[in-house]
Amino acid sequence: MRKKRKNRTVVQKFGGSSVANTSRIKGVARRVAETRRAGNDVVVVVSALGDTTDELVGLAARITKSPRERELDMLLSTGEQVSVALLAMALHELGLEAASFTGAQVGIVTDSSHTKAKIVDISGNKLKETISEGKIAIVAGFQGTNTEQEITTLGRGGSDMTAVALAKVLNAELCEIFTDVKGVYTADPRVVKDARKLDTISYDEMLELASMGAQVMQARSMEVASKFDIPMHIRSSLSRGEGTIVTKEVKGMEDVLVRGVTANKDEAKVTVCDVPDKPGEASRLFRELADLDVNVDMIIQNVSRTGRTDISFTVCKKDLARTASLMKDIVRGIGAKGIKVDKDVAKLSVVGIGMRSHSGVAAKMFGALASEKINIDMISTSEIKISCVIAEKNADRAVRVVHNAFGLGAAGKSKKRSRAGKCRKK
Ligand code: ADP
Ligand code: ASP
Ligand code: MG
Repeated sequence: MRKKRKNRTVVQKFGGSSVANTSRIKGVARRVAETRRAGNDVVVVVSALGDTTDELVGLAARITKSPRERELDMLLSTGEQVSVALLAMALHELGLEAASFTGAQVGIVTDSSHTKAKIVDISGNKLKETISEGKIAIVAGFQGTNTEQEITTLGRGGSDMTAVALAKVLNAELCEIFTDVKGVYTADPRVVKDARKLDTISYDEMLELASMGAQVMQARSMEVASKFDIPMHIRSSLSRGEGTIVTKEVKGMEDVLVRGVTANKDEAKVTVCDVPDKPGEASRLFRELADLDVNVDMIIQNVSRTGRTDISFTVCKKDLARTASLMKDIVRGIGAKGIKVDKDVAKLSVVGIGMRSHSGVAAKMFGALASEKINIDMISTSEIKISCVIAEKNADRAVRVVHNAFGLGAAGKSKKRSRAGKCRKK
């Protein structure tokens, strides 16, 4: 007797813009149905309709300036529950068996960090059962529950995390992320008109781009995808055609100096002035910030000439108020002079694994900014990235000029890319 061939398992995630209204939901249902009818087992993850999550945040803000995070999670998680039910109905209309689930129903267990919870376990049983009954499982993205059955959410953009985590648990052959652009571009196509869609990108580059502000993927979800080599395809829900494949690094990828340029307008800069230059002061400052659960990004300490020094760092804009109030207390405690805060900053970054083995990237980036008279406030680097803090008002112009300097646009593709000297970083 011939053994029945096992179906491929595919996880398909549709973002808010892909399910913004009922006609788009019907379109998504047709796309899911196609995948199912091609003989795949399909698990679908959906975000809330359009801007629902922002609207819910806005509603809370009309009640209170500081909603408790537990209640915010109760509120925000409702968005995804609407879209899963509607998509299930649309699939039923097409004659397919489908069932919708909340995060809790499929056993997505998280820690208790409300509004930015981490997944600690997923029991795949409910999903496997649903699939084995021949049904399409539709899971609400962005949510889970902690071990006390409290509803949690996974941070903004967290449906990407749900999709990647389910792909891992189900050992899926593919995780498809459907969005409102054709794939990952050399820069945000809303900002750079001639940005070019990439056919492939490495996990490391996608993780850096996402962490540096490229909204197309949630950064934390890319950490998981990269750790477990989840096969990913980022593509458009509104048109056909191949998107961008995220893969392990392959030969030849290092030949490209810079894969993409991005700007993050979500950061603010804090400077603590005239900190006594003695052991323990920086440690105290950042220890107390960590205790407040504030993530610090770039840190710069100036060379001390007078026994005192300035320490500057960046934090997310949403953390600025509590960071500033904590710093004011610390300043008094350690005898520093005071703090300066600048919320009108942006972090501009270039990312590419080619930087590991080629020099000249920093010089070209800084030169491009200088040509536009854009001042650099802070600089930081990693193995495959260079970031500069600049004034927020210059961010879009800076992305365009740097994108152009590296010949990343559609016009630059046909030209031979400038190859800087080998074997020296940056
Ligand atoms: P979804 O609702 O599908 O999750 P998002 O709005 O979170 O979609 O992400 C898609 C958006 O990301 C695009 O509309 C695009 O403007 C933005 N974006 C920023 N940087 C990039 C980039 N490098 N490549 C593609 N899109 C990008
Ligand atoms: N709806 C949530 C948000 O807007 C999650 C997501 O879309 O991924 O952040
Ligand atoms: Mg998103």
